[in-house]
Amino acid sequence: MGDWRKNIRQVVPYTPGEQPKRTNLIKLNTNENPYPPSKKVQEIINQIDNWRLYPDPAAGKLVHALAEYHGLGDDQVFVGVGSDDVLAMSFMTFFNSEKPIFFPDITYSFYDVWADLFRIPYETKALDQEFNIRKEDYMQPNGGVIFPNPNAPTGVLVDLDFIEDIIQANQDVIVIVDEAYIDFGGVSAKSLLKKYENLLVVQTYSKSRALAGLRIGYAMGNPELIKALNDVKYSFNSYTMNQPSIAIGAAVLEDEDYFQETIKKIVETREWFKSEMRELGFSFADSKSNFLFVTHKTVPAKAIFEAAKENDIFVRYFDKPRIDNYLRITIGTEEEMKSFLAFLKKFL
Ligand SMILES: *Cc1c(COP(=O)(O)O)cnc(C)c1O
Repeated sequence: MGDWRKNIRQVVPYTPGEQPKRTNLIKLNTNENPYPPSKKVQEIINQIDNWRLYPDPAAGKLVHALAEYHGLGDDQVFVGVGSDDVLAMSFMTFFNSEKPIFFPDITYSFYDVWADLFRIPYETKALDQEFNIRKEDYMQPNGGVIFPNPNAPTGVLVDLDFIEDIIQANQDVIVIVDEAYIDFGGVSAKSLLKKYENLLVVQTYSKSRALAGLRIGYAMGNPELIKALNDVKYSFNSYTMNQPSIAIGAAVLEDEDYFQETIKKIVETREWFKSEMRELGFSFADSKSNFLFVTHKTVPAKAIFEAAKENDIFVRYFDKPRIDNYLRITIGTEEEMKSFLAFLKKFL
């Protein structure tokens, strides 16, 4: 018997939130948008007739549309299969130092998975008691920095001065800002791209644009970083972006009114839901995302999580140090949140 097992890569994979097969439930566990995407989606999909052919490996149409939308050059945008793909490629491309990369201890739980997968050394930096990132922690020698803004699963936003201080202290490495939730009330760090060559800003269609099912994410950065990302991508898989993603991704950017309207509804629901939750004895850091990360003064989070599930309401619970008494609740429609509140009032 050979010892072939020793040559197998051992990884502990990321655990995505549950995607139940049933549809008659209230799903507040994976930060999806409760509203449908732009009507352009159906329109465009009916027009696609070149399924037989490979897609444009450069996804030129989508890259160009995104560049125009954000006021950048085409050579400043890289697209991928969801921001998870873009982030994984970025880890591979930019984090190649012997020094550890830094990210918060409470953050998107894919970062340590990619670091392990690509054998990148890393150090997590503890958030303070109120779940704020402490910027001094990021001012020691490192191999790169990444954090979401707003952070997930806390929802806490930092301002551009804060981000600029971190970039300024890290001129020898790449700093990645993961803006999966920026459209729900933050200001994008993309305006800092003019000033800093070592900044990469990553965004996604999955949350604010209600297209999690399509899988589109993108990075914005200086042309040298974008070329480096493309070189790695083309060394891995030339055709990551399929026909519909390229066409629909470009088209929905024209539907700005609908986009703004949907966001406005979610933000209004979020602010109303915050006051309702406070009244029920929950506390939470102020969220600028499409979710709330809450803890109750007396009732354990896990008990609420399980009871909610029995009532066909799915929220997210992380069985991890420091956050195992918290629930992450996606902001759904006002009606969905009312049902959830009704359940809570009965249960508590
Ligand atoms: C949802 C999320 C992503 C990944 O989203 P995609 O669907 O892969 O675009 C990345 N980062 C954070 C912080 C997220 O919450």
